[in-house]
Amino acid sequence: MNIFMRYTLYLIPLLLLSACSKDTKKEVRKEEPMRTIFIYYGPPACGKGTLAARCVREGYISLSTGDLLRQNITSGSELGKRAQEFVSQGKLVPDELVIAMVRDWLNKQVGKTEPIILDGFPRTYAQAAALLDMLNEGTLGKNKVVVIRFTVSEDEVVKRIVYRVICSNKSCQHVYSLKEKPPVKAGICDICQGQLIKRSDDTEEVIRKRFKDYMQTEAAMLDFFKSRNIPIKEISAEQPMNEVYKAFKAMV
Ligand code: AMP
Repeated sequence: MNIFMRYTLYLIPLLLLSACSKDTKKEVRKEEPMRTIFIYYGPPACGKGTLAARCVREGYISLSTGDLLRQNITSGSELGKRAQEFVSQGKLVPDELVIAMVRDWLNKQVGKTEPIILDGFPRTYAQAAALLDMLNEGTLGKNKVVVIRFTVSEDEVVKRIVYRVICSNKSCQHVYSLKEKPPVKAGICDICQGQLIKRSDDTEEVIRKRFKDYMQTEAAMLDFFKSRNIPIKEISAEQPMNEVYKAFKAMV
């Protein structure tokens, strides 16, 4: 083997190694994508869940803490047993239970990049602080949090729950308004053919209590978000869902 061939044989692996290490450096330098987390904040029956369901069809990921709690109640899990009496009376489930449930759910979202909608969480100061701590831990990657605040009157909310039915299939729970958007076949879910039922907490007495509870904490919650420099965008939920959807899309 002449000297030229010997050098070439040494040089080839060296050149390959250097090319690979350049590629790896490029990978490391790649900017981590920013993930948006929308907090849907508003009184009960303001349409948060309906809007979230529509966004999910476009690729958003949504967590409704109410849906998840109802799933646990139906399946009879330990969490469901502890949450049942609070949910049926329209009272807030204790913070530590809800925070642990959300932490568990968020951990399952690691590695995904779709925007997240939190529907019905946080509802208390402790939940809001815990959420921001979880996001600051960094396991979910880089995040931008935006609060979408829905405004609606108590009378409108009461009117809506009279017509509200949901799918009893715990993995569906699609919401229908028998006035605005009834199912094709009465009593049957268009999506999964499950039985449509009334939520046990959809009574006028419970909804009025929940509305009052919400209004009592709303100002403090909004102040907390402001103090953490989280943008708050407002949507009137008094208008038809299509308009609410358009207003949301114009903001994102
Ligand atoms: P929703 O489906 O959002 O109307 O919630 C239904 C019920 O679930 C509420 O009345 C509470 O009992 C319970 N719940 C849902 N989200 C929370 C939360 N973030 N904190 C405490 N309780 C909750």
